[in-house]
Amino acid sequence: MTILALEIGLEGFAATLVGEEVADEEIGRVPLPSAAAWATCRDLLLEVSRNHEITAVGIGSSGPIDMLAGVVAPAEIPEWRTGFALVEAVQKTFPGATVHLALDGVCLGLAERNFGATSEVMDALSVTVSSRICAGVMVGGFVVVGRTGNAGHFGHVLVPGFDDLCECGGRGCVEAVAGGSSILRWAHGQGWIGNSVEALVEAAGGGNEIAVAALNRAGTALGRGIASVAPVLDIDLVVIGGTVAKSGPALWKPLTAAVATHARLGFLTSLRVIPSELDGIGVLAGAGVLAMMARVPA
Ligand SMILES: [Zn+2]
Repeated sequence: MTILALEIGLEGFAATLVGEEVADEEIGRVPLPSAAAWATCRDLLLEVSRNHEITAVGIGSSGPIDMLAGVVAPAEIPEWRTGFALVEAVQKTFPGATVHLALDGVCLGLAERNFGATSEVMDALSVTVSSRICAGVMVGGFVVVGRTGNAGHFGHVLVPGFDDLCECGGRGCVEAVAGGSSILRWAHGQGWIGNSVEALVEAAGGGNEIAVAALNRAGTALGRGIASVAPVLDIDLVVIGGTVAKSGPALWKPLTAAVATHARLGFLTSLRVIPSELDGIGVLAGAGVLAMMARVPA
């Protein structure tokens, strides 16, 4: 059997055949298209799967999704924002395959559980902070999927002390402060000139006050969000990856300080927050796990 994994990501599509180990050069990637999203996605899938008979496809998609209907509605893709029947489209492309869809965060949780740091615990939160935030919750060793497939939207936990407008329509969500796009928007509003989180991190390292403040806000919001979620789930590990998570002490110091300040209950004193080692392939790897777990034995 040959499994194909697909990520409908925050910044682009990625696909690969699932094997023992997947080298980075074996991953096909395209940036998020501004039009013809499905045609772009299908071309990528056909390119990656050529000469292979695909028996299962695992999809990890940016949310929201309707898992039962097989529909995705990621905010990053305007054509799909009101819902696209992705499972049906993939099924038509690979008629002999079973197709399995989960939220990107759920796939991330599966990948951290199978290949990453959360494999050593039973209760954890796995987070990617890039332009936006995706996350997966593991409780009792099971990655929580939720009623509609959308459990784990950590980016929309409210954080006290912030009222930044969020793309979801609410205010004060973690993502509205700590997502990469939000960090840049806030920094630009303060007069900083630059176009990437990496440039902002560099500026912060050079002592730029706006850049330092932007990462301080982001770290504080992430830490408060974690401290809000941890007592509900009784977790003992949080793993954070993504471009923003690579910001170094300017982000991590206020983050860990906020966790230490607010996660005070006795059962949370052992709570650890650590960087992910999956290096950006978590969702794709988890999509492969999803397809393997869900397959019906022949
Ligand atoms: Zn929100």
